[in-house]
Amino acid sequence: MIDLRLKVDPLPIVEPLVVRLLDQPVDNRTEHDAIILDIDGDRREYEYHGFSFTVHARPHESLDGDVLLVLPGQASAHRLIRANSNHNTFLVTEQCDQLCVMCSQPPKKYHFDLFDQLAVAASLAPRDAMIGISGGEPLLHKERLFQMLFAVSASRPDLRFHILTNAQHFEPQDAERLVALGSDRILWGVPLYSANPKTHDRIVGKEGAFASLEPGLATLMRAGASVELRTVVLQQNWEDLIGVAEFIATRLGFISVWAIMQLERIGYGRMNWASSFKDTSADFEQAARAIDIAAARGLKAWLYNFPLCSVPQDYRGYAPSTISDWKRKYLDFCDGCGARETCGGFFQWYDHKEGFNGLGPI
Ligand code: SF4
Repeated sequence: MIDLRLKVDPLPIVEPLVVRLLDQPVDNRTEHDAIILDIDGDRREYEYHGFSFTVHARPHESLDGDVLLVLPGQASAHRLIRANSNHNTFLVTEQCDQLCVMCSQPPKKYHFDLFDQLAVAASLAPRDAMIGISGGEPLLHKERLFQMLFAVSASRPDLRFHILTNAQHFEPQDAERLVALGSDRILWGVPLYSANPKTHDRIVGKEGAFASLEPGLATLMRAGASVELRTVVLQQNWEDLIGVAEFIATRLGFISVWAIMQLERIGYGRMNWASSFKDTSADFEQAARAIDIAAARGLKAWLYNFPLCSVPQDYRGYAPSTISDWKRKYLDFCDGCGARETCGGFFQWYDHKEGFNGLGPI
């Protein structure tokens, strides 16, 4: 498993610190750069503003270009940017106004504002990077989020963002800001679990969520924003999947992508696994029909987080590898599978004893 936290020797800091680790000086050196001085086993010593900064990491693991966030009093740093990965995500808040049955990151009450530090971290990312933004619900801190996006867009127009949001906090006047940020720079990932408002609201644990989502989507549409609608398949909405496909095709044709997603067994997803997980290796019918409807209407539908062998052959082309590198694993029977190079495998926390029944090498 890839470490997203790295042990550091304590620093006498009173404010959060953003540091980029470099194996050698670069032309565009910044005040945030630390240059390596010495490596001894898992211990790496860097020079930072004349001081020594020590990071502990697995030998031979490259940290060159990685960006760390060090918080006062903490003995480990958050690895915000891994320079050699396409799977970097900023968790901007743990607060949320929903309580989804499958939430992988159950909400917390308090918010610790690190938007300024995250803007600095983004500005240090490799060229043309795509950075994920998630929560919690990022738009609960909409003004700070927009400030960060505008600041980064000004200094690093090459960067793009994929932002997960319930889209319920957009207001009509936000359309202007969305246009100014540019539709090619941000992909908004918005969950839609059912075309039936009651079912959607039940799944997200918030009455009126569906009704609030509709104007939010309208604002995104008016701004010409890029939108990825996301539907996690569950026992609770399996029979509604065709209805979702029809709803998107008739009402939301402006979206860029419809992602039909498998469940992640962590957080509330783990707690509610038995009552929520839908074994699509045993029954794929609704998903197949939903994809067919989307395709017939010219909508791009994808299957996210589906092991390839859980998908009937005719639909495997819709199932790219989507599980982030740091949380992906394969099982013993994957050894020797001809599809392993293209298959996204499983989440680290997937438990095969309670999972798909009909898997095997292909
Ligand atoms: S056997 Fe493993 S690698 Fe092959 S398709 Fe299934 S999950 Fe993917």
